[in-house]
Amino acid sequence: MTGLDIAIYFFIFVIGISIGSFLNVVALRLLSEEDFIYARSKCPQCGKNLKWYDNIPILSFFLLRGKCRNCGKSISIQYPVVEFFTGVLFVLSYHFWGFSLKTIFFIFLISNLIVITITDLREKVIFDLNSIPLIPLGLVYSFFDIGNRATSSTGFIGISFNDVFISAVIGAIAGAAFFEIFSRIGYLFSGEYAFGGGDTILGAAFGAWFGWKGLVFILVLSLVFQMIVGIPIIVYNFFKSREYYSLFAMLGLFLALLMSIFGRIFNYRGEFLISIILIISAFIIGGISVFVIFSRMRETRNYTFLPFGPPMVAAALLFMFLENKPVLYLPF
Ligand SMILES: [Zn+2]
Repeated sequence: MTGLDIAIYFFIFVIGISIGSFLNVVALRLLSEEDFIYARSKCPQCGKNLKWYDNIPILSFFLLRGKCRNCGKSISIQYPVVEFFTGVLFVLSYHFWGFSLKTIFFIFLISNLIVITITDLREKVIFDLNSIPLIPLGLVYSFFDIGNRATSSTGFIGISFNDVFISAVIGAIAGAAFFEIFSRIGYLFSGEYAFGGGDTILGAAFGAWFGWKGLVFILVLSLVFQMIVGIPIIVYNFFKSREYYSLFAMLGLFLALLMSIFGRIFNYRGEFLISIILIISAFIIGGISVFVIFSRMRETRNYTFLPFGPPMVAAALLFMFLENKPVLYLPF
């Protein structure tokens, strides 16, 4: 790496953290329904306009030790964190794809995904402004195969130019259908929608950008992320509200999971009778557990719904950077 390379990387990082700073403002002003283009930056606590030297991405937060110069109230850690991540994602985009059309498309996508993550984490909303344009843009991206899927030598082997676009159309429809269908099934059982309309749009968008195979990867991985974060929170909430039936049912789910794993192992070892007994029992115990959890939710109206946008964004980012790399060879 030459000095010039380092200078370019640094320059792109600086652009990234500056845009990250803007994305923070966009997200917060969308949430507070303020104008985000013309209004000046100000402290959300005391409302005082910020001087330029108190508004430098990342640096100002540390120079001010996380406190407003005027009122002394804490500045949210969200600001430097979002700025830093935006900078890193910009550098990664340049590192992988150089100065290309793909980089420009992905920088636009990444910027919107960052705003979506902030608004979904803070208030569980995904704004149409950030999400709906991603669907036609993803279709354009796939139509012209800007990601070069048809020509890449690893990953999606042997697909043609046409397949990329067809896969994107199927992906967009499947992404929307997945959330609409599961949202309605969940509503039948629990009396509450687990997914919002924003998830439907985001699912359709990821299908449009990455085709149906990419969508499947993103959905599966985001469910895994959600379980890793969500199960401890759900168990904690059951404890707090003394929901012992539901806690017991969570244990039942865990037991069902173990039984199905052992069922697979016995199946491999050729002991089919034990395997079948284990798998059937796992289905029965798992089914009863899910039924108990849903019906208790319905009775107590005690729901723990976590936003699904952030895990989907995390999974999509992983897919974007690893697609066509040998590490991510899709098994289908
Ligand atoms: Zn202040």
